[in-house]
Amino acid sequence: ADMDTSSGTGQLVIRAQNPLPTHNSHKGLFGDVGVIGGQSASHDGQGMEGAAMLAASAALHAGAGRVMLHLLGSSCTSPRPGGIAADIMLRSLEAMRALRGSLVCGCGGGSLVSDVIPQALPHAGSLVLDADALNAIAAQAAVQTALLQRAAQASATGPTVLTPHPLELARLLGSSTAQIQRDRIGAARQAAQQWQCLVVLKGSGSVIAAPDGRYAINHSGNARLSIGGTGDVLAGCIGAHLAALPPGSSWAEAWQPLLHAVWLHGHAADIWPPARMLTASRLARSLQRPG
Ligand code: AMP
Ligand code: MG
Repeated sequence: ADMDTSSGTGQLVIRAQNPLPTHNSHKGLFGDVGVIGGQSASHDGQGMEGAAMLAASAALHAGAGRVMLHLLGSSCTSPRPGGIAADIMLRSLEAMRALRGSLVCGCGGGSLVSDVIPQALPHAGSLVLDADALNAIAAQAAVQTALLQRAAQASATGPTVLTPHPLELARLLGSSTAQIQRDRIGAARQAAQQWQCLVVLKGSGSVIAAPDGRYAINHSGNARLSIGGTGDVLAGCIGAHLAALPPGSSWAEAWQPLLHAVWLHGHAADIWPPARMLTASRLARSLQRPG
């Protein structure tokens, strides 16, 4: 078994088999993933497009039917930035609102992310909040209220996944990184309960926690992941695994696909050839479709 689960379903995550899609499959079956983030350098000279591009690439390779990307602070009529796979559709924020599937928000978000959070939170589908989306929650009472409202209206929205690293979780809980690291399980469970969300506390032995207190510790992954961009790849990978859930799904329905996504991300690093440098973009391209 690659995953411990406690006080929960007792289910174990097993290796993906990756069978071919059935002959009558179509892209709609796998669900769409929208990525909002990657504030454009044209906004404030501090470009972070790469983070959102990595999340989008990860979603694509992890098996999303279609992937749409909105780079904050850019107009989608501007020239297509280099390095974005032809498979990925650049879309306006308005177009993202009509998306059916999961939304990944905050990777490389920048200061503009708090402006889009109010539009993202009512999304009728799965929502993955990472990086600056988490910082917006920590900093703004209005965003906190909206996040709890989303959870209270779960049947009209869908599951929400927070993917903090220890510092981001410290900000969310008004704590310190050292305190989080002393009790990673306790901290992840506390956040899941407080925000009524699924929480992935990243780092060696990522802790996945749910609002009812169940948690799992992921045993895949290694220190080769300690490089820029791998967290963005995880967010996109989770988005792809949750994309096929129908709108209004509960967090409990997202639990297993979430565990699988976290495991797969680490596993991709575990099977990476030792002599070949691992980079986040290579990691994204090596992800595999859910089995
Ligand atoms: P971030 O902190 O957002 O850049 O995300 C880093 C990603 O790499 C997360 O998925 C972490 O769980 C993973 N990671 C970083 N360092 C390690 C490590 N030493 N062992 C296992 N996974 C790691
Ligand atoms: Mg990160």
